[in-house]
Amino acid sequence: MRTLSRRQFLRTSGTGLGLGLLTAGGLAGCATTVGPKTGRRVVVIGGGWGGATAAKYVRLADPSIEVVLLEPNRQFVSCPFSNLVLSGVRSIESITMDYSGLRGHGVKILHQEATAIEPDKKRVRVGDDAIEYDRLIVSPGVDFQWEQVEGLPAAKDTVLHAWKAGPQTVALARQLQSMPDGGVVVMSVPLMAYRCPPGPYERACQIAWYLKTSKPRSKLLVLDANKNIVSKTGLFQAAFKNYPNNLEYRPASRVEKIDTSRREVTTEIGDKVKYDVINLIPPQRAGAIAVQADLVGADKRWCEVNHVTYESVKQKNIHVIGDATIGLPVPKSGTMANSMGKICASAVVHLLNGKEPPQMPPVNVCYSWVSDKEAMAVINSYRIAQGKVVMIEQKLTPGASVAFAQNAEGWARSIWSDILG
Ligand SMILES: Cc1cc2nc3c(=O)[nH]c(=O)nc-3n(C[C@H](O)[C@H](O)[C@H](O)COP(=O)(O)OP(=O)(O)OC[C@H]3O[C@@H](n4cnc5c(N)ncnc54)[C@H](O)[C@@H]3O)c2cc1C
Repeated sequence: MRTLSRRQFLRTSGTGLGLGLLTAGGLAGCATTVGPKTGRRVVVIGGGWGGATAAKYVRLADPSIEVVLLEPNRQFVSCPFSNLVLSGVRSIESITMDYSGLRGHGVKILHQEATAIEPDKKRVRVGDDAIEYDRLIVSPGVDFQWEQVEGLPAAKDTVLHAWKAGPQTVALARQLQSMPDGGVVVMSVPLMAYRCPPGPYERACQIAWYLKTSKPRSKLLVLDANKNIVSKTGLFQAAFKNYPNNLEYRPASRVEKIDTSRREVTTEIGDKVKYDVINLIPPQRAGAIAVQADLVGADKRWCEVNHVTYESVKQKNIHVIGDATIGLPVPKSGTMANSMGKICASAVVHLLNGKEPPQMPPVNVCYSWVSDKEAMAVINSYRIAQGKVVMIEQKLTPGASVAFAQNAEGWARSIWSDILG
């Protein structure tokens, strides 16, 4: 895997809002240049599970279309499998990849943040500059509603969520490692809808496994805002029984307040809970750019889309995919974002070529690790009926096993390569 050089950003255009040349350093001596639009151009905001897939698949479907991907991060760190970094089963390096494969497909990557969308002018602002598009694909993931927990806005840099894999994942793992045996870890789960419904329960198993094997007198307390485990319910209930001394699960216990000076959280029912290590996963909404561009619905949280093309119901020529969407009967998962990325890319290419987009349903598979060696899974299949995605069936593995964990490893390798390879 290659290390990317320091970012450069040069604006060489003339006056005012630059519609000229945007240049961002790629590999040393190999800068990406985005000039004024001369042919058909798709701009993609967000190089995560949905956006990176869409960018690649537009190029694969029609190499005559210029694709510009805006992603501030130089490296792709996978949320799937990041809970295994907390338990020390995996390293952060093993889930970190670069974007060189996408460049190989001719995707122009600017490691810049989109600062605004101007739908009327069909352009994306990047600071003082702007990039025009024919179609825009927005996959910004989630952002956090800090204000929903009293005391959290002031403490958001020190109270870790680790719900976007990266430095916070490593920092939380370190906090767990340095906690003395006998300590209490408190983890909060927000009300649905949030990124990766089974993710918090997988995390609970990983932290509990770590405590059981490395700090047996310690305990994880899971404060769940939901009335019950929201995904793979029976399977997680069974998995939690493997950690009778190290895991306590409390449903209907939304965290309302945090007091970092007292190392204490307060739940909606007034329980005050002391912690040594806190992992507070805040309520979520679509990534800020989607909210700012008013792609969200009346709830000001999530974006409604056409179920066949993923075009926003609010803005023409703008498509939204991944966790930022709502209204489809699908989980906010990486597999789903990848699936939406491919379907959306195909729809966009059809539309740009004046053709009817095919009606393709997405697919979902989601593995959860319950120890260092065992995993379990859920698979959802869908079809399109009257222009809407509907679920046909959902299947769960009968339990967790080493064999399913091997399948999980295969799934990860193949989907990472599908997104970035
Ligand atoms: C702990 C955990 C475990 C998980 N495990 C699984 C699993 O096992 N299986 C599974 O299928 N899913 C899993 N998920 C869920 C999965 O990670 C998400 O569903 C998936 O990442 C969603 O893809 P996305 O493209 O919507 O968002 P992301 O992958 O988060 O990508 C969004 C990207 O947009 C960029 N961005 C945001 N704003 C801007 C802007 N203004 N300009 C430019 N770029 C911007 C961000 O930097 C980011 O890279 C897990 C999640 C977590 C937190």
